[in-house]
Amino acid sequence: MLDLASLTELLSQPRKIVITTHHKPDGDAMGSSLGLYNYFIQQGHHAKVITPTDYPDFLSWMPGNEEVIIYTDNTELSATLIADAEIIFCVDFNSLNRINDMGVLVGKSGAYKVMIDHHLEPEDFDDYRHWDINACAAAQLVYTFIADQLLHKKLINKDVATCLYTGIMTDSASFRLPNTTSTVHRIVAELIDAGANNSRIHELIYSSSSENRLRFLGHCLANLLEVLPEYNTAIIAVNKHDIAMFDVNTGDTEGIVNYALSIANVRLAAFIVERSDKVKLSLRSKADFPANEICKKYFNGGGHRNAAGGQSDESLEATVAKFKSILPEYKTLLIQ
Ligand code: 5GP
Ligand code: MN
Repeated sequence: MLDLASLTELLSQPRKIVITTHHKPDGDAMGSSLGLYNYFIQQGHHAKVITPTDYPDFLSWMPGNEEVIIYTDNTELSATLIADAEIIFCVDFNSLNRINDMGVLVGKSGAYKVMIDHHLEPEDFDDYRHWDINACAAAQLVYTFIADQLLHKKLINKDVATCLYTGIMTDSASFRLPNTTSTVHRIVAELIDAGANNSRIHELIYSSSSENRLRFLGHCLANLLEVLPEYNTAIIAVNKHDIAMFDVNTGDTEGIVNYALSIANVRLAAFIVERSDKVKLSLRSKADFPANEICKKYFNGGGHRNAAGGQSDESLEATVAKFKSILPEYKTLLIQ
């Protein structure tokens, strides 16, 4: 175990640092990782961000992006960096199975492991933990780690601020989820003062769809959306044919579930998609409905109360049927 004083001491001279985050990284995963990266490189640390898998184009513009190593494309280099690292920062995840094959390498590495995360039920693999389930984003915790724990607020420069702003904006669904507290807004104000261009970041994330993606969204809403008024639930189930028809790429499905949730009265929305190896579920909910409980109990997943995910090895049809069969158990919570 490391305490803050020992970690601060450790970081007082240049170290070999690996920063990693969960597979299929989202805006918070990339924003919190690259925020830390841009902080460390100012101090002469040898820092590398390694992602377990690739990530969508709309996240490929943040400062430091060109230095990111994708594990699946560079397994040998990644394995060497992980084995040689002195400190490994694990951001926006808290169990090693969230980084796929890299989990074994990180587990075996002799490096100190630092967890910066806001998910429930952390696994015990770390030496230092900055963890708070009330944080709206891991990027919020990277901010407090740098500013309040390491006392380096002055090193939150434009690059760091841009990445952290992106993480907070995306994970709070544009400052909309219930965990977007006044503290979050104060942090965001500091990030804007430090140089984050909020309007430009919003445009880069939310107004950079391909034409295909927008047409795919139209197909989902016009043809695939199913509303179950008796359960205040909406489902969009997408099969391999839909994916092929619109040439859907990594990240193109992101956020579509929120359209289903935007229907008045709908408290639970599911986006269920047939991937090459399995069926993936994305659930979103309003207010206090526990979407993560359904993912954990029935779909080998988890997440936050209002945004959770899971998977199934059954067919798309069987997965949709299973999801529907679970709804009666939650009826009182759904129709209140
Ligand atoms: P998404 O629907 O965007 O894939 O995931 C929403 C949230 O659920 C993410 O922030 C992530 O933390 C969580 N999540 C998604 N898939 C899984 C999973 O398979 N296992 C766990 N534990 N959490 C997941
Ligand atoms: Mn997050």
